[in-house]
Amino acid sequence: MGKKQFKTEVSDLLNLIIHSLYSNREIFLRELISNASDAIDKLKYLSLTDEKLKGFSFEPCINISFDSDKKTLTISDNGIGMDEEDLNNNLGTIASSGTRKFLEGLKDDARKDSNLIGQFGVGFYSAFMVAKKVEVVSRKAGEETAFRWESEGKSTYSVSEAQRDSQGSDITLYLNDDGADYANRWQLETLIKKYSDHIAYPIYLEYDQEHYKDEKDSEGNPVKEVEHKREQINSASALWTRSKSSIKDEEYKEFYKNNYSDSEDPLFYIHTHAEGATEYTTLFYIPAKAPFDMYYADYRPGVKLYVKRVYITDDDKELLPTYLRFVRGIIDSEDLPLNVSREILQENRIMSAIRNGSVKKLLSEFKKIADNNPELYEKFISQYNRPLKEGLYGDYANRETLLELVRYKSTAVEGYTSLASYKERMKDGQSAIYYITGSKENILRNSPLLASYKEKGYEVLIMDDDIDDIVTEMVHEYKELPFKAINKTGAMDDMKDKDEKSEEEKKEESALVEKLKKALGERVKDVVISSRLSSDSAAVIVMDENDPSLQMQKILKQMGGGEEMPEVKPILEVNPENGMIKKIDQSTDDAYIASLASVILDQAFIAEGIMPKDPAAFVREVTRLLG
Ligand code: ADP
Repeated sequence: MGKKQFKTEVSDLLNLIIHSLYSNREIFLRELISNASDAIDKLKYLSLTDEKLKGFSFEPCINISFDSDKKTLTISDNGIGMDEEDLNNNLGTIASSGTRKFLEGLKDDARKDSNLIGQFGVGFYSAFMVAKKVEVVSRKAGEETAFRWESEGKSTYSVSEAQRDSQGSDITLYLNDDGADYANRWQLETLIKKYSDHIAYPIYLEYDQEHYKDEKDSEGNPVKEVEHKREQINSASALWTRSKSSIKDEEYKEFYKNNYSDSEDPLFYIHTHAEGATEYTTLFYIPAKAPFDMYYADYRPGVKLYVKRVYITDDDKELLPTYLRFVRGIIDSEDLPLNVSREILQENRIMSAIRNGSVKKLLSEFKKIADNNPELYEKFISQYNRPLKEGLYGDYANRETLLELVRYKSTAVEGYTSLASYKERMKDGQSAIYYITGSKENILRNSPLLASYKEKGYEVLIMDDDIDDIVTEMVHEYKELPFKAINKTGAMDDMKDKDEKSEEEKKEESALVEKLKKALGERVKDVVISSRLSSDSAAVIVMDENDPSLQMQKILKQMGGGEEMPEVKPILEVNPENGMIKKIDQSTDDAYIASLASVILDQAFIAEGIMPKDPAAFVREVTRLLG
């Protein structure tokens, strides 16, 4: 039996496998099962198209057996099989261009990073992660002779004649110390379920089961009997590969509940077969309740990548953009290579086409639901408004669509409104979308600023989500209408009455402003006269248009930049018609003015839900003033 030398690239790959892939050994089984499934695909195809094999009939199946004493594991299929030449070409060189590219793509650095590589397959040779010797006995369909390929995964292999009753291949692994555990029924069952559940052909597992018979032996001990069993392990359902019209609603829902351990039906699902430049299938589910951990940093997205029905990964943040992390389901590509690595996935054109197509599809379905099924959309928004807002921030390409999808609370309607309906309700001459941000809806709704907007018939969006501030500032406008925060200076002028004030009034006002500025000193950036507060409110805090809002400052602090962040001073907008302000206007007692001004400023903070900087001082001043 002559020994043959592996081609150098195979030796390279074997080295790589043996030295760096140990972290994720278990994928070898997925690879071998996938090869078996491909071999069956090929024979099925040829039995329909090939002159010689036309009409060849067989019952496709994959069979897995093991010997836990001898530590062997055999994966058999009745697919196309290989003749001597095939064995040399396919297992003596790297036949698959995918594998070759994968190997070439691995820079020296990446080779060291075994964790990354270990996530993905390297085909047949991955058997050497768990085996000290691999034997392949194969008979090609339509041939009489079978051949045996053997190798210890070093630098050589051998091919010799062998026996096999019918077409197909048996891949027998002589497990090494690290792989010995795989000659075990439960291990195998778990791995088949995990990676190969949706392989289209039945995968049988053979095992021996001991049980006690009803009889006793001469010494009165129960008699054991060993029964040889063969059981199909995979569900072979791959629901998504079937045509939409053949799948019942119930089946979609069952599939979801069985695969995503959710006891509730999904809110809705979206099943798409995409054809054209890239061919892929997606089946996406929107859970009825947002996953409880979706805001945790270590949240695992719920979309799994398959390549031709073989499970590849669910731990890839690249499959869908982060903001769509609540989506569960499957992406199954016909075009990606099985051994696609994480680095390759990130830069892969096919993957990015799939990703872009999937996002577009999801968003356009959301939009359809928003337009045609408001009740369902309301449920959807109650769970996923916030992630959509994250999308506004992060997904520039789809911003227009996302702006139609997000919803806001508002002073004009119960529940939520879209920006489109805000725009429709706008008064003639209104030139901006007004909003107010803060952390508590009830505080915002009671803001002294709102009253005059209501009076003028201007609707104000109530933005109480912690990311609203960042998002709205970033997005800037909706259909050329600017967003304007009413608690910032930029919105103030819109509310000014057109009729000019008299010179005398102006003089009085600037004297009042000076008094207050002097009293408050460094605590404020500026003091301005309000034209939009009702007489029962003395003052409000507004922020300079170019400064972060109070809400935003809170977030920035939480994000850790707090220490270095320079203090942002507020602007105090005062109402000259209010009694407290009038008292300041009329007084000449500096100490009294200082005390009153300080209380007014602190009160304005409290109205925003913010604690005064020095609460004890505030209480002292109030007590003194009232006492
Ligand atoms: P890939 O599957 O990516 O092509 P592999 O290294 O896994 O790469 O396999 C190399 C080749 O060996 C396959 O392309 C196929 O032609 C052949 N092969 C592997 N396993 C089988 C099998 N069970 N039956 C028939 N051919 C096989």
